Amino acid sequence: MSINQLLPTARHVLRLLFPRSCPSCHAEFQPGHAAACFDNVWEDDGWCRTCRLQIDAQNSDRCQSCAAVLAQPSPYSRGCASCFRQDLPFNLALSVHNYQGLLQQLVIQAKNAGDETLMSQLGRLLGQEIKKHHQTADIDLMVPIPTHWKRQFFSKGFHGPSLIAQNIEKMTGIPQSQRILRAVKPTLKQGTLSRTARLQNVRNAFVCRHPNKVAGRSVMLIDDVMTSGATLIEATRMLKQAGAKQVVVAVIARATSAD
Ligand SMILES: [Zn+2]
Ligand SMILES: [Zn+2]
Repeated sequence: MSINQLLPTARHVLRLLFPRSCPSCHAEFQPGHAAACFDNVWEDDGWCRTCRLQIDAQNSDRCQSCAAVLAQPSPYSRGCASCFRQDLPFNLALSVHNYQGLLQQLVIQAKNAGDETLMSQLGRLLGQEIKKHHQTADIDLMVPIPTHWKRQFFSKGFHGPSLIAQNIEKMTGIPQSQRILRAVKPTLKQGTLSRTARLQNVRNAFVCRHPNKVAGRSVMLIDDVMTSGATLIEATRMLKQAGAKQVVVAVIARATSAD
């Protein structure tokens, strides 16, 4: 029996011992449970094929400046229709997909329920996207966007960006540190503000506590959703002020409607 014949059998045995279900629709991948479900698992990453195809942007064109997944290639030399006027400071921007449909539902669900398992699984999807670009991006360090302690107090310890970064660290080996940036200003919720007001709201919201760990290095900022990009722009400003060589941003989802 060849290794190619043995692998599916080994997977079958593993799933029999450790049955799992899709994080989105909860279809169970268990031999004997439903043959269609078992065949439906997406390359062993935990999602069913049906959900994964809705979440994943596959090989669509993406804007390297703002991470938007584009319906067609951008006509601009830098940026896309959503961001070309903003001259975003990121060296590269990555996302799983746009903030829409099933991915949007799952991000909202994870954040509202403080669901660490679901946010971790979303983080692993981003990890796969980063792995595709890791060599080109050449990242030294990941920094999750911090939350001010006053807001963190009400989220009972749940912090999406840190969970995402921890999962990407496990997958890629890129170290992450939650101690590099500190949120020093209790900002208003960005959702209700205009783009200019958002930039003003987050101005001086962060300090870089360890410039020596950032200077001359390539840093990847991690957040759950990028909308106007104001928070990530301000964090990038602080990292570059501390001497970062380049700043890449990676988010689960990119919302373009508020631009
Ligand atoms: Zn599913
Ligand atoms: Zn763009």
